Amino acid sequence: MGNISIFNQSVYLVVTYLSIFLLFITCLYASVGNKQAKGIWLLFWGLMIDFFSLYISVHSAEVYAKGNSVEIWVFLEMLFCLVSMLLLAMASSHILVKNASNLPIVSVFGGLGLFAIIFFLYIYPDNQMIAQMRYIFPLTGFTYLSIGCFSQMNKKRSSAFVLAGLVTMSAAIVMLLKLLGFNYFIYGVWYTTPALYIMLSLSMVMLKADSFARKYDESCIEIEKDNQRIEEIIKYSPFPIIISRLSDDRIILANSNAIKLFDISAKELDRYHFKDFFADADNRRILGELLEKERVVQDFEILVKTPTGNTPFWLLASANIIDYNYDVALYTAFQDITSRKNREVLLKNQATRDPLTSLYNRRYFEEEVFKRIVESKTNNEPFSVLMIDADHFKKVNDTYGHKTGDKVLIELASTCERALRNDDIVARYGGEEFVVFLAGVNALKGKIVADRLRESISNIVVYSDEGEEVRFTVSIGVSSYEISDNIDTLIKTADEALYKAKENGRNRVEIFDKNDLEAFDNKEMQERIKNEVNNRHPIFDKEENAEISLLDGIEANHIQGENTNIEDHKKEDEIDYPILGVDEEDLK
Ligand code: GH3
Ligand code: MG
Ligand code: MG
Repeated sequence: MGNISIFNQSVYLVVTYLSIFLLFITCLYASVGNKQAKGIWLLFWGLMIDFFSLYISVHSAEVYAKGNSVEIWVFLEMLFCLVSMLLLAMASSHILVKNASNLPIVSVFGGLGLFAIIFFLYIYPDNQMIAQMRYIFPLTGFTYLSIGCFSQMNKKRSSAFVLAGLVTMSAAIVMLLKLLGFNYFIYGVWYTTPALYIMLSLSMVMLKADSFARKYDESCIEIEKDNQRIEEIIKYSPFPIIISRLSDDRIILANSNAIKLFDISAKELDRYHFKDFFADADNRRILGELLEKERVVQDFEILVKTPTGNTPFWLLASANIIDYNYDVALYTAFQDITSRKNREVLLKNQATRDPLTSLYNRRYFEEEVFKRIVESKTNNEPFSVLMIDADHFKKVNDTYGHKTGDKVLIELASTCERALRNDDIVARYGGEEFVVFLAGVNALKGKIVADRLRESISNIVVYSDEGEEVRFTVSIGVSSYEISDNIDTLIKTADEALYKAKENGRNRVEIFDKNDLEAFDNKEMQERIKNEVNNRHPIFDKEENAEISLLDGIEANHIQGENTNIEDHKKEDEIDYPILGVDEEDLK
């Protein structure tokens, strides 16, 4: 392919060498990890040997000029031309057919070429023929190579082959023009060689780019296949399944079971966020934390809701983080456990609630208050217990019937529950008696709360089956931490105060104080309570602090140092009974 004119000026040579270097580097770059690597190197060495044949031809011209025989040099030059052609042909066949055997090409082309060289050089010497073979070998090699490159045209990402095909075809045309005797090409155009190398270098770079693009295509196809697989699994799953994008929490896929369960529109899935389905934001937060740690969460109970509905329901969720559609996504499968959960709640309620009023029952109250008293003592907080009893309730029953009596109890219970704070506990103690634990409230404040409650209750109107207005009142007894920290004693003493309220005319509130102990008819109980009152923990009685703490050395500093009693610890504004209208001023 080469032209001896590149030897005319050193700058031509330098440019040619640089282009060879460029070609080498780009071949190296393109061949890494490429299935066509073998073809690339066959092409490179084919071109190098072709270039080397130029040297021999220049050398033989010098030898000839000195009048010596050049037969051996011409033979070598021809042999290099032949080998170059074979390598280019092998490169082409490698491109054309993957893993092609080179044996047929080498034996047929090589055998014929060698025979022609020997024939025209030694057996029937023909200088004209030899001169033409100089062009015929590369012409054959490049033509074959360009056919190989163009054969890839119909494939995807084949721009590198198209360019290489055009370049090698141009080289073949140049060879043809030389063969046809166009002197301009035989002697004049030094740059055809470096131009060929540079253009092929460019194809090598493009080959690499094509291979990257092809790999990208393949991974896209792979992802597409994965997505389809996931979609199939989800579609036919008997469980509701949702896929949501982690970055923005939007739903990207939901099967028909999930669409039905959450009552969402299949066409506008991305309108919904996964968090929209959580009735309890804490559930979502905990699930997120677990996923961050493990990436997989199984059998996680969540309380969910539909975006439009208000009634939450329970689901068992299993979630894991997956790659889906070029996103990191959360795959969540659900199982409806509403009926199981409802059963659980029912059983729990049966154990802790009164069926008529839905208030806590006596057992639950006593267990819970026991814990709350311990807590209050730890936090130096006061507390009170109210015992509430409907006045002349028998009369309500007798006058309006038992059913109306039940209605009264239900109304009474719901008024108590609405009126008191979340921190307080209200329970049905039995019959028409209710008991309340007021957290952070001493006896005096407890009385204010009780009075307001009593007043609210006296305003309740219930209608009998006959449509008659039924009004009723309650009496309330108050006991507090000042008397005891024992729940039995507190109830007993509050009941005693309640008795006093009944005695004093009903529809009123009475506090049990220390003096009431004397009036106790149960002597054993009286003694016990007296003991409890006298042996109280120092935090409950400021006056006794100094003496007892001197003897016991317990917590005196804390109490004295802050010159405080329990009430001082309580923030007044925490006592807030909105529907009773008890405000700070009342409680002071
Ligand atoms: P007092 O003012 O002294 O408390 O009078 P009272 O009539 O309320 O007194 P008593 O404790 O003797 O009567 C309570 C009545 O409450 C008796 C009982 O029939 C009635 N009672 C208890 N539990 C229920 C209930 O669940 N439903 C109805 N309708 N009545 C109940
Ligand atoms: Mg009673
Ligand atoms: Mg009663």
